[in-house]
Amino acid sequence: MTEQPTCAVCGSKVPPDEDHVHVVANAKRMRDRDGREDYYAHPSCWREETAEWRDPA
Ligand SMILES: [Zn+2]
Repeated sequence: MTEQPTCAVCGSKVPPDEDHVHVVANAKRMRDRDGREDYYAHPSCWREETAEWRDPA
């Protein structure tokens, strides 16, 4: 049985074989080991969640 990831925004299942967003949060730490967290989201949830995020440039 393959486990389905859960949407980070709405909490329902994200089927891996359907459109989805995979987010990898890399925490760069100068004094400690880097951390990595994986998140999944539905494309529509992700768009709503990040609507006010800014580009890094
Ligand atoms: Zn969702």
